Amino acid sequence: MVKLSSRISTIKPSPTLAITAKANALKAEGRDIIGFGAGEPDFDTPDHIKMAAVRAIEKGFTKYTPVCGIVELKDAIIGKLLRDNQLTYKRSEVVVSCGAKHTLYNLTQVLFEDGDEVIIPSPYWVSYLDMVLLSGARPVILKTVEAAGFKILPEQLKGAITARTRAIIMNSPSNPTGAVYTATELAALGEILAGKEILVISDDIYEKIIYDGRKFTNIAGVDEEVRKRTVIVNGVSKTYAMTGWRIGYAAGPEEIIAAVTKLQSQNTSNPTSIAQWAALEALNGNQDSVEVMVAEFRRRRNTIVEMLNAIPGVACMLPHGAFYVFPDVSSLFGRSHSGGIISNSSDFAAYLLDAADVAVIPGVDFGNDNHIRLSYATSLKNIEEGLKRISSAVKRLS
Ligand code: PMP
Ligand code: GLU
Repeated sequence: MVKLSSRISTIKPSPTLAITAKANALKAEGRDIIGFGAGEPDFDTPDHIKMAAVRAIEKGFTKYTPVCGIVELKDAIIGKLLRDNQLTYKRSEVVVSCGAKHTLYNLTQVLFEDGDEVIIPSPYWVSYLDMVLLSGARPVILKTVEAAGFKILPEQLKGAITARTRAIIMNSPSNPTGAVYTATELAALGEILAGKEILVISDDIYEKIIYDGRKFTNIAGVDEEVRKRTVIVNGVSKTYAMTGWRIGYAAGPEEIIAAVTKLQSQNTSNPTSIAQWAALEALNGNQDSVEVMVAEFRRRRNTIVEMLNAIPGVACMLPHGAFYVFPDVSSLFGRSHSGGIISNSSDFAAYLLDAADVAVIPGVDFGNDNHIRLSYATSLKNIEEGLKRISSAVKRLS
């Protein structure tokens, strides 16, 4: 038997990716599965972005680039942060990585170690927990409740801070709840953090996927002092339907960015040269496709929320951002089917896959076992059919 490092045994495979892979495997076997699993826009990458990559290949941009990314892309990121977020950065304060997941992983590796504590509001995106565990630090989970819109309260944050607290990971709009923090709410959290040596990792990946006139703000934008200790994480995957291109980035204090670059120089080297040129076009080129995609996501959100709330025993909050719904299904716990009793979110997700050919992610993977997550980054047709199947499977429970 091969002996693996004890480090790798501290984490589990990404459940969002594992469930999606399982759904795809069942599809390949001929099962008609409707997937509400991984959060991945179903749209194609816009043509002008693809063409920028084609041009990059033709021009021979197929070699190593600087480890931290080409200056042209760094400048485009700096331009975006100024234009959209009114934040000023220098080139030495920006690093481009192989997707925002890689960016976050690099940050947890260069910042945290044994004995540190990292605050993670829950429900959280699945990978934060495992990345923090892999760094040796202890995740400190701050539970939020639906009644508070799944947002942490200042007193809660205050109560969680200890001498060992190194950072908090913020994510607004949130995966999985779709919660969006207002500037006022962030300012109140900023007041708690002011004067403390606590870093903020602000995962802004769903910045542009926002509805109902809500305005995106991150904590760096509301408090100048906190800004100096904030690292912004963002990328092109969600906004531009570019999940496969693998481009993400961080902007923040120079020392942190230099450490991430050093780490990257020993693992991936630069992110893919061609994808960097495509990301540059995504940020600097025509933005019309973003509006079109967000309008379509909004229609799908309205349909999926309405259809979920029409199912007895299911209650779904209206999310104001991202492309996930996170309905409460706990009223169904205790009900049974031929295969057994549904006692938790994993049982319910397994039942839906078996009995309804529908893939969803159990809430327990996001730190809340009363809910399930559905990604509505899929066609309205799939949403309508999938929800009919869920409704009928719920009716069959006794
Ligand atoms: N943060 C959150 C909250 C996400 O949902 C995702 C989705 N994959 C990522 C980061 C990473 O995105 P990517 O690596 O594709 O840039
Ligand atoms: N972020 C998406 C999700 O939460 C994609 C899969 C992943 O990277 O976890 O489903």
